[in-house]
Parts: sequence; structure tokens; C-alpha cells
Amino acid sequence: METNTFDFLEKMERAGCTAFSEAKTLAEFRDLEVQFLGRKSELGLFLKSLALLPPEERHKVGKRANEAKRAITAASQSARARLSEASFDVKSEWIDVTDQPCSLPVGHLHILTTVENEIVDIFRSLGFDVADGPELETEFYNFDALNIPADHPARDMQDTFWIREDTRSSQDPQDHRSARLLLRTHTSPVQVRYMETHTPPFRIIVPGRIFRSEATDASHEHTFYQFESLFVDKSVSVGNFKYVAELFFSRFFGKRIGVRLRPSFFPFVEPGFEFDIACTVCDGKGCSSCHGTGWLEVGGAGMVHQSVFEAAGYERDRWSGFAWGFGTNRLAMMKYKIPDVRLFQSGDLRFLNQF
Ligand SMILES: [Zn+2]
Repeated sequence: METNTFDFLEKMERAGCTAFSEAKTLAEFRDLEVQFLGRKSELGLFLKSLALLPPEERHKVGKRANEAKRAITAASQSARARLSEASFDVKSEWIDVTDQPCSLPVGHLHILTTVENEIVDIFRSLGFDVADGPELETEFYNFDALNIPADHPARDMQDTFWIREDTRSSQDPQDHRSARLLLRTHTSPVQVRYMETHTPPFRIIVPGRIFRSEATDASHEHTFYQFESLFVDKSVSVGNFKYVAELFFSRFFGKRIGVRLRPSFFPFVEPGFEFDIACTVCDGKGCSSCHGTGWLEVGGAGMVHQSVFEAAGYERDRWSGFAWGFGTNRLAMMKYKIPDVRLFQSGDLRFLNQF
């Protein structure tokens, strides 16, 4: 029995060592590992069966069996080292650190941000500064300071998201400023906030988000973006406004754009007007976009009302200036032919990825 057993172990050891030394690939090597060193290999099963032998025999046979296993393991280790080295392929492992990185999908600016940046750049080149103000505004800055008193019908012109009702009845005018809160319905409150802390002459633009409590459709949104411009100096005229407006729109649309003014009413300006630009689709000849008129309505404008200057703390009739505003969404829609204002905030990547 013992002789047979030792022969068997001898044969196993030789077979295993030879097989590993002759292995040609890592795949072959892995098969040999299972065949010679695995738990279900002949040697593995044999080692398990040692427990059944009488103690004295188990000791002798076990010693020899472990020697065989160590020899085969050593052969497998040198085979692994030899094959791993051989399988190293310089071409596939080479990393060219100067190579272009592979392009991961990255985000980009929202179309409204891009358009807003474009508008800001044009105004900056004309010497305008950018001013900013809070979106959560007080009734005072959003209405009162802009010559829109509580009982003024103009307040109904803009549907407002009210945040907090005023429960106080103080007569202190300073109290107005912290009274009822609302989401600003236009960027005009920033005009007053800016004037309170600055002395003319100045030129500013106010890009910003505004809110209206109204039903939405293809051309109405409850949240949209507006641009406001304010130019205050001595003897500023409507002519100055028209010049700046024409210059701005011509640069924005990349072609000569005429501007036309129509008398209109806004409480914070006197005189006030709405302004149209020559249709960007037909260049003023008349088409379906402009309903054959050759003009597109863009925004409102006017000479700053002296009461607004007064509310900001300026002396009446000392300064003159123009203010005007237009919808950033609307301008983006005109330039990029976007048919529905709701697309901007839809989060729809099919829309956003086009820009
Ligand atoms: Zn047209």
C-alpha cells in the first residue's frame, strides 16, 4: 500500500511540475491550477482522504503528500511569473500622457444664460454696469417707489405672487420697505435700489428673473427673465434711448435693426412708449411672424418719472434718464426661432442639447 501511495505521489508531483513548466498561456495555466492544486484535484482529494489512515501511516504519507504539493505549488508560481511577464503587451498597456482625453459628456450653459451673457456683453461695450437685486421683493420697491400706489389700477396690470400679508398699520414710511413681501414682477425695483446708493450720472443694466401669477401657454410663463436698462444724466433725451436701442438690437441680431416707438403708459415713466423692432424674419417687408406689419413688439420704455427719482432721494427735475426693459426669453425665442416659451424651463434635453 505504502509503495503504491508513494509512487502515486511521485507521479503526481512530476506530472504537475512538468505541466506547469510547459504551460504556454495564462488560460492554460489557470486550467492546470484547477487540475493539480484545486480542492477537487487528485492531490486535493488524496490529502482529504489522509484523515482515514491510521495515525502512524498518516504522518508518513502526509509528509510526502505535502512535499509533492509544495513542489507543484512552486512550479505553478514560477509559471505564473513567467506567463504574466510574457503576456504584457506593450502596445495595449502603453499610455500616452500627451494624448487628447476621451470626451466625456459634459453639460453646457442653458440657452437663456448664453443669451443673457450676450446681452450683457453688448451693454458692457457701451459703458453700462450690471446691477443686481433680490427676487423676493417688498411691495415698496416693486410698486410704491415706482409710482404705483396701492389704489392705482396699474397694480392689476401685473399679477403678483404675494408672499406675506402686512398686518401692521404703522404710518412710518420706512415701514413700507419691510411690509408685504412678493416675488418681484419686474426688474424695475432694482432701479430704485441702485439709485438710493448711487449718484448720477450712471448707466446700468439689470438682468434678472421675474415672476407673474398667470396661466401659462406658448407665449406666457409664470417665471421668466427680463432685462432692464437705466441711463441717468443731465439732459438725456428720447433720441438717446432710440440710438442705444438700435445699436443694441443691431448687434444682438447681427444686422441693421430699426426701432419704432409707440406712445404707451407705464406709471414709472413720462412719457412712456412701447417699442417695436423691424421684423427679424422679413426685415420689415411683412410676413406671418409680424402679421404683415413688418414690426415685432419687444418691450416698454420711457423717460424716468420724476416721482421715481424723488422716491430714490433725488431732487426733482435735476436729472433726466431713460429706462427700458424687454424679455430675455422673448429675445432668445426671436433669435433662435423657439416656438414655445415653456420649453426653457421644461428640462427637456432634446430641447436643451440643440444649443
Ligand atoms: Zn416679418
